[in-house]
Amino acid sequence: MKNRLKDLKTVKSLLIATNNKGKLLEIKKLLPDKINFYSPEDFKLAEPVESGKTFEENAIIKAKYCSKRSKLISLSDDSGLEIIALKGRPGIYSARWAGKSKNFNTAIKKVFFELKKKKKLNKINKARFYCSLAIAWPDGKCKTFSGTVNGKISLTSKGKKGFGYDPIFIANGYKKTFGEISPDLKDKISHRYKAFSKIKKFFKYGK
Ligand code: IMP
Repeated sequence: MKNRLKDLKTVKSLLIATNNKGKLLEIKKLLPDKINFYSPEDFKLAEPVESGKTFEENAIIKAKYCSKRSKLISLSDDSGLEIIALKGRPGIYSARWAGKSKNFNTAIKKVFFELKKKKKLNKINKARFYCSLAIAWPDGKCKTFSGTVNGKISLTSKGKKGFGYDPIFIANGYKKTFGEISPDLKDKISHRYKAFSKIKKFFKYGK
């Protein structure tokens, strides 16, 4: 892996293996500005089937799929919301709860519906966001990094910032949801930021 340290420090082109605009924006902000970013669309890549049973497995599937086809170092992010009272759901199904149209109002309604079914609505519901990042090289090598942020589910959906489940997640130590706080603050405390910190430590590079 040692010769790869240089790879990431001097990397000129990187494919970000996601079609999720919210994720893409946050990932780009966490990486050096000088990198030329590519997306799966640039190589007309379809979305691979996320058949993994964990965030890590799905992140690896996405990064390897893109790297093999584009011949570029590829970085993927598989992440989601885990709610304790729902035994960790939606978890790896976080995107799928939004349906084919990727409508997160639908996904958020489903969270409230499921909590109501368990008579846990209007109670404190511990939850966490989990992020697994995978970096794959065209020769098939791959490395993963993870990060979490603990918090609770808001009793109502609040705020229009961020994406996905941000309007219903309140990080521990804060009163506002991720949908209400500034993107800059989210970038300092999020699961994605924590996973990126591990990447930076591993590859010993600063922005
Ligand atoms: P996937 O990793 O592409 O399968 O999708 C992960 C899904 O988890 C996203 O579509 C969001 O719904 C949710 N998610 C992951 N990270 C965040 C975040 O930072 N804020 C809000 N929702 C998130």
